[in-house]
Amino acid sequence: MSIRILIVEDEPAICEMVTYALDEQGYQCQLAHDTRQARTRVADGNPDLIVLDWMLPGQSGIEFARELKRDPGTRDIPVIMLTARTQEADVVTGLDAGADDYITKPFSPRELLARIKAVLRRGAPHAAGEELVVDGLRLDPVGHRVQADGTELKVGPTEFRLLQFLMAHPDRVYSRGQLIDQVWGRNVYIEERTVDVHVRRLREALAPAGRDRLIQTVRGAGYRLSGKD
Ligand code: CA
Repeated sequence: MSIRILIVEDEPAICEMVTYALDEQGYQCQLAHDTRQARTRVADGNPDLIVLDWMLPGQSGIEFARELKRDPGTRDIPVIMLTARTQEADVVTGLDAGADDYITKPFSPRELLARIKAVLRRGAPHAAGEELVVDGLRLDPVGHRVQADGTELKVGPTEFRLLQFLMAHPDRVYSRGQLIDQVWGRNVYIEERTVDVHVRRLREALAPAGRDRLIQTVRGAGYRLSGKD
């Protein structure tokens, strides 16, 4: 699964430039032209980062950033604000609203990429494309590979997302409902039993390397990934 970046911007030229630059780096880009579209995209599943223009038709970027930071389900999504030079004085307001960084227009694709990498690294190393390792189990988010002891394990797409989420948050218990929000998105209706089915498949996929034991059932609570027994 590649890293998903949501661009919220109403100027076609900037959308095109940013999408081109990010595609080239292997990021998966999504576009929204206003915050209404952005809200729908986010509800389909949290992106790894949002590039958010300040001046948008309808609700402003800054109001949307505040909204994201108020919601516990979206508060951890890193946000980079795009501002016009004339708004530079307002940057403090942007950072107060919860933006992680800002870029002043006009900017170069290189500058944006550097900021994106820095913000991703700060927030979540896995979202920067870095390999996740727990107890010898290795997940490569860019190459979409899982291996242990030099053996490549066959993991289906949903199980991969589930594993990536759990490996990025080890030793924490997640309820089935929380896993649905994080792995499937809040817009989808999924029965909690479905989570059990995918956990079972994930364990089966990890079993050849004996790593199925990493996925632990916590009775009455949910699931946890832990290298400790
Ligand atoms: Ca704009």
